[in-house]
Amino acid sequence: DVEIRDLHKCFGKLEVLRGIDFTVESGQVVCVIGPSGSGKSTLLRCVNLLERPTSGKVFVDGVELTDPDVDIDAARRRVGMVFQQFNLFPHLTALRNVTIAQERVLRRSRAEAESVARTDLARVGLADKADAYPAQLSGGQQQRVAIARALAMNPALMLFDEPTSALDPELVGDVLTVMRQLAEEGMTMLVVTHEMAFAREVADRVVFMDGGTIVEEGPPGQVIGAPRHERTRTFLRRVL
Ligand code: ATP
Ligand code: MG
Repeated sequence: DVEIRDLHKCFGKLEVLRGIDFTVESGQVVCVIGPSGSGKSTLLRCVNLLERPTSGKVFVDGVELTDPDVDIDAARRRVGMVFQQFNLFPHLTALRNVTIAQERVLRRSRAEAESVARTDLARVGLADKADAYPAQLSGGQQQRVAIARALAMNPALMLFDEPTSALDPELVGDVLTVMRQLAEEGMTMLVVTHEMAFAREVADRVVFMDGGTIVEEGPPGQVIGAPRHERTRTFLRRVL
């Protein structure tokens, strides 16, 4: 599971996270929603230590990632991340994009890395695109390669930061289908998204953030279906 305890993050005088607490149980999906600038990306970046929290703790499966003595590379390896921009290497095939970190970071042999990559490309519906270069793939296919690349590292947790926001509308569904399937397979996931239908259907819990704090959280039927706070209602009126 993932435990976030009293997380604060300041950029200079700007306090972007003001004491965030929540848990993602193993095998559960938590969707984070909230207006632009509310700190959603910063929260995810603190969970995989792309940003150092100013204070507070993050635990993944009992290991404190924020412990100053923890091996930061080993800790980060436990957390897969998928961004809005896919950040694939343009000069490498889909297969190589998925093998390179396995070889360099996990020290897997080329043969083993390729075998894992083919399995994970099949998992995201791209078994036949292993030899394609990113420019030969649609945005949705590129994003699915990015998901396969993260899965190949055997993460304990997957973070998604608006994974479909950069996609043409007709390509969004394929990526959400892959994410829904990962959820069904029992992957622990923390997902920042504006896709309310996805959150309603797939999330075990929804967290609504505003101004660096959690305004409310609970099952999607409550937070999205019957929000208790005016700020949540105002936000939902704008996005639904
Ligand atoms: P969006 O929905 O637009 O992606 P968000 O909820 O992900 O928004 P963040 O990107 O976490 O919001 O940003 C929260 C606040 O922190 C914003 O005011 C932003 O300008 C500020 N911020 C984020 N990163 C930095 C940084 N590296 N340095 C200074 N300020 C930052
Ligand atoms: Mg963001």
